[in-house]
Amino acid sequence: MNYKFCRQRTTEREVRCKGIGLHSGAKVSMKLKPAPANYGVRFRRVDMSGSPTIIAHYHHVVDTMLATRIGFNGVTVSTVEHLMAALLGSGVDNVLVELDGPEVPIFDGSAAHYLDLVQEAGTREQGVPCQYLKIERPFYVQEGDSYIKAVPSEHLRVRYTIDFPHRLVGRQEYSWDFDTDTFRKDIARARTFGFLKDVQKLQSMGLAQGGSLDNAVVFDDYRILNRDGFRYSNECVRHKILDFVGDLALTGMRMVGNFEVHKAGHALHNRFLKQLMTKPGYFTVLTPAAIPTCFFPSAAIPTFLDPLQQVVKPL
Ligand SMILES: [Zn+2]
Repeated sequence: MNYKFCRQRTTEREVRCKGIGLHSGAKVSMKLKPAPANYGVRFRRVDMSGSPTIIAHYHHVVDTMLATRIGFNGVTVSTVEHLMAALLGSGVDNVLVELDGPEVPIFDGSAAHYLDLVQEAGTREQGVPCQYLKIERPFYVQEGDSYIKAVPSEHLRVRYTIDFPHRLVGRQEYSWDFDTDTFRKDIARARTFGFLKDVQKLQSMGLAQGGSLDNAVVFDDYRILNRDGFRYSNECVRHKILDFVGDLALTGMRMVGNFEVHKAGHALHNRFLKQLMTKPGYFTVLTPAAIPTCFFPSAAIPTFLDPLQQVVKPL
């Protein structure tokens, strides 16, 4: 899709589902509700007094150990990244996510169930141009032998490399160009993965209580433990792209750029965004004013994008 002509979308009707949380193992109910243009993605904790709401934004990331957790004023929502990726992959910009617990349900550890949920809800265009964050100059962050490099491009492309010392994983490299069809086919079904000894250690610490072969690919020292094996021969690196895209979606905008990611994780994904956003010359926020519309006054830019307003420029 040409970013110059894209308009924001929300879901058509309310949908609901139930699943378990990866951390707690407890049941959680989730609703997706349509939201107005420029609303972004927001999470509401209906199990808490006053039903507080958190904007899905990289500044609100408070923990990246097992998953991406956002929080504000002591209210947190964990494991947002697969849902965020599915919303971006479905072209949904604005939605209210209601939860009666502290985690987005993990389902099968991929984004497939969320895509089905959005499909069940249907989507509709909102007449307001999408907002894009476009990489303008090469930008690079590194930590040890992990790095993320972004260079200008007219599309969103992610090339990810992982390297795990396990004979069924090893070095995997995969490149993906953003497209809603290929997202469903090539990325969304890739499940999260882990190694049995790490899972056992986490569970002994009271973490990953909901983790099981139903929601992750798990390896022992030699084998994959899931009876049906992989969904893709390189499922692990595809899942890392899913994670990266979900974490990028926490800008509240669609990204335009070419990203090369090497052995990273949620922590570096988040650090990359935070550092990039302090370097105005390296990106621009595009508001497609060239589209004939009377629906997009500059005042409609979401307030949480305030720090960026000085670099907003029309196409
Ligand atoms: Zn993941």
